[in-house]
Amino acid sequence: MNNDITLLSVRSLAEEINKRNISSREVTEAYISRISQTESQVNGYITVTPTLAMEQADEADRAFSAGETCRPLSGVPYAVKDNVAVSGVKMTCASEMLRDFVPTYTATVCENVGGVVLGKTNLDEFAMGSACERSIIGATHNPIDLSRSAGGSSGGSAAVVAAKSAPWAIATDTGGSARQPAAFCGVVSMKPTYGIVSRYGVTELASSLDTVCPITRDVYDNALVLESMTGRDSRDMTSVESSGRFTEGIERGVRGLRIGMLGDSLDMCEDEAVVRLFRAGEMLGKLGAEIDSLAPGAMPPLDVALSSYFVIASAECSSNMARYDGIRYGYSAYGENYMEIMKHSRERSLGDEVKRRMLSGAYALSRSLGGGHYLDIKDVQTNICRAVSQIFEKYDIILMPTAAGVPFKLGDYSSNPTALYASDSFTTIANLTGCPAITIPSGGWEGLPYGVMLMGKKHSESVLYRAAYALEDSLSEYVKTEVRRCEV
Ligand code: GLN
Repeated sequence: MNNDITLLSVRSLAEEINKRNISSREVTEAYISRISQTESQVNGYITVTPTLAMEQADEADRAFSAGETCRPLSGVPYAVKDNVAVSGVKMTCASEMLRDFVPTYTATVCENVGGVVLGKTNLDEFAMGSACERSIIGATHNPIDLSRSAGGSSGGSAAVVAAKSAPWAIATDTGGSARQPAAFCGVVSMKPTYGIVSRYGVTELASSLDTVCPITRDVYDNALVLESMTGRDSRDMTSVESSGRFTEGIERGVRGLRIGMLGDSLDMCEDEAVVRLFRAGEMLGKLGAEIDSLAPGAMPPLDVALSSYFVIASAECSSNMARYDGIRYGYSAYGENYMEIMKHSRERSLGDEVKRRMLSGAYALSRSLGGGHYLDIKDVQTNICRAVSQIFEKYDIILMPTAAGVPFKLGDYSSNPTALYASDSFTTIANLTGCPAITIPSGGWEGLPYGVMLMGKKHSESVLYRAAYALEDSLSEYVKTEVRRCEV
């Protein structure tokens, strides 16, 4: 019975708990027990919070029996990436710097959801990375093939959803960190329009690009969960109201939608990834969409987008990381004066990648050091945004791969960390433009999954969900036969 509960969708869990056919306690217990079966192999959680989860579950059950009005996801368990604050629970950001840091506040997104927190999931230190390997607890393993990466930085969130040790999870995406791991683990993630989910209580990486995203097992659940996550928040000045009810009309299909398929840059991809992309395009055509290849050169060059992303992200990260000085937060080393305390604390508690980005980011911001590229790159970003809005005058959706290949082996990039940056080739453009983009499983090769991504103009989440919902159904047989089942 326990394992059957962990197979239910978020939608069914919410309905059954609401109707009091099952209790939140029962569901939560099933997940806590599933976590104890899978964690030794997956390593997706940094902290598991059974006591908090049981308290929240009992409170939800009490509220439902008292007939109180509850939030749509009350009583439904979920996991939270460990760079998102939950009051009273350690938030480490996978860094020695914050190993013992306990926030006294809860992120707005978690307050909005109001579910049951199962625990905090693994990530690359401060969300910088694409493999979920650089963490104080070590790497997360991909549940589909434990020798491979779950993707990053939100590898923990994607892996626990795929391993059925959470029904859904919160992730963050600054350059691809929710979508790439979702594609690697064969699950679904929407990076929403910048600002529709509050960043209050979410640890900053690059504030102008950071978004908070749901990872789920299917498209409907994703839409349902995002509905609960959104909302204007006076504590985040960049937050905006969203267009709202993403599940409404999700079954309406794709007839009449104009879809442009990426044609340039596909030489970066494995052949099989291109085949999966074209198959998805063909399916959308059969379902009634108008499908077309984007004109050569219409899409801004993805290598330019990628390099611009790394300059902007590193510059903003170097400024955001300034708060970790050994005095205000976290790890503190001995020193004779402020400069020494700061130097020793950072030196001993931050990993190489974080240091690399702080240094290159400070250089990009500082003209006096000979850098000062930040403003120039912001101009490049403006041009990218213009080119993409021109595409959206003609098309509703751009169809492209989520990643260039199937999940790589853990450790493949340890001797060449900057080569890993190319993992984000297809994803950063949605962050640079603030546009929404959803990844869904598109099939596989030798048992390993590929994802396909649909990107739309700002606030077009409902259109993307409609198309993804239809496409998911048409691709489901391929996904079932081409992707092997989880190993745990
Ligand atoms: N992988 C990208 C990076 O290393 C994206 C990170 C993210 O989205 N948090 O910067």
